[in-house]
Amino acid sequence: MKNIAPKLEEKQYEENFAELHPPFTSNSAVAEANRCLYCYDSPCMKACPTHIDISTFIKKIATGNVKGAAKTILDSNWVALTCAKACPVDVLCEGACVYNERNEPPIQIGRLQRYAMDRYFENGMPQLFIPAEKNGRSVGIVGAGPAGLSCAAELALKGYNVTIYEAKKIPGGLDTWGIAPYKMRQADSLNEVRLVESLGVKINTGVTVGKEIAASELLKSHDAMFIGIGLGSSARLEVPGEKLDGVVEALDFIEKVTTRKWRSVDVGRRVAVIGAGNTAIDAATEAKRLGADQVMMIYRRSEREMPAYRYEFELAKNDGIIFHFLTSPKRLLGTKHVEAIECISMRLGQPGKDGRRRPEEVPGSEFQVPVDMVIVSVGQNLDKSFLAQLPGVTIENGAVKVDPETMRTGNPKIYAGGDCISGGQEVVNAAAEGKRAARAIDASMRS
Ligand SMILES: Cc1cc2nc3c(=O)[nH]c(=O)nc-3n(C[C@H](O)[C@H](O)[C@H](O)COP(=O)(O)OP(=O)(O)OC[C@H]3O[C@@H](n4cnc5c(N)ncnc54)[C@H](O)[C@@H]3O)c2cc1C
Repeated sequence: MKNIAPKLEEKQYEENFAELHPPFTSNSAVAEANRCLYCYDSPCMKACPTHIDISTFIKKIATGNVKGAAKTILDSNWVALTCAKACPVDVLCEGACVYNERNEPPIQIGRLQRYAMDRYFENGMPQLFIPAEKNGRSVGIVGAGPAGLSCAAELALKGYNVTIYEAKKIPGGLDTWGIAPYKMRQADSLNEVRLVESLGVKINTGVTVGKEIAASELLKSHDAMFIGIGLGSSARLEVPGEKLDGVVEALDFIEKVTTRKWRSVDVGRRVAVIGAGNTAIDAATEAKRLGADQVMMIYRRSEREMPAYRYEFELAKNDGIIFHFLTSPKRLLGTKHVEAIECISMRLGQPGKDGRRRPEEVPGSEFQVPVDMVIVSVGQNLDKSFLAQLPGVTIENGAVKVDPETMRTGNPKIYAGGDCISGGQEVVNAAAEGKRAARAIDASMRS
């Protein structure tokens, strides 16, 4: 890459990527836990897609029973440390806390959950669950992200032989390879992988189903299959110049940053991120924290329509990211390396099929912005070629079609959950869906 931003001192990187929400001390955790009103109707529990019994685990923290708190949390959610650190709590559990109605700060549920889960892993993962005796049935799971791991853990507890097939050498899905390092560390995700393995789940890494092993083989060798493949490769920008040096896909860039080998990740001095979803925001803030002088985000709709969460947007603004709304890239310019983006101003027209007003070009409004690096973050595509190998599995609106109650696809032997059925949501949704599928698989095997 040309015009690389100078590398920083190691200490500076650590400061830039320090945790957004530092952990509670024991005293502060107990004090916060004692604020909980233990509401009779637990709106926080309803707001959590995995329905963790939040007031009960908080009560346990308040009484010093931290191991019991971890048990209550894990009863509902197998990736609870990741969720504690990375969930958008202000729109989920904490957003539902009754303290909000009184204009008082909600209970810090995420930090309390993290307190219990940190202690659990620091104390060497004491055994809290004993899997049922083996029932002779086996389930094959494709993908070791939060959806696959949750499904696997739940089935292993019920006595199934569970094998996960994971394409990457290191499992955990986007919990390991996607979530911003100022939210959580890879080690947190790998602890959760170890927990799932401790229940007897086998994870075959470096195995891409559909390539190294045929999907039909898995269908033959297992009584049921769960598909938790997430979303596949990044979508292309489809403008001239996309192949120039210095133009990278957001997920490739983010994956490198999650390794925390800061100095090995090159970032341009002037960076443009195309897109305005949560992934785009992560890419922008990470580029800035790696030392880019200037990071701008280019989005063809207005601030109102941007898909990123409000708090992610605020985080980016605090990091000094510049937002170019109602702006669309037309061409990436440069001889070998990207040197500028030709943009055009947009205006919003009539609503499209999705109800959102469609952006239209403003004729003659082209302008150029000099850049050294472009990070493309305009969505991900489902791996249709793999899914095509699964008889009865259908795709609707870019996602695998399932019965939302059972997570069963059109093939009675195949279930699915996580980003591949939603088109991209949160870790907590994937965790909930993996678990729901496991219960449905168990129910169908018993019937
Ligand atoms: C950059 C980024 C940041 C995010 N930040 C947050 C956040 O802060 N908070 C939050 O709650 N959510 C966040 N999310 C969303 C969250 O990570 C996902 O919703 C969640 O990981 C989906 O889980 P999953 O198990 O469905 O898929 P994934 O986590 O994508 O896991 C799928 C796994 O399947 C494997 N796989 C795919 N195809 C095959 C195959 N053919 N054979 C074998 N293995 C295969 C993949 O290698 C991968 O390990 C973020 C997403 C991104 C992209």
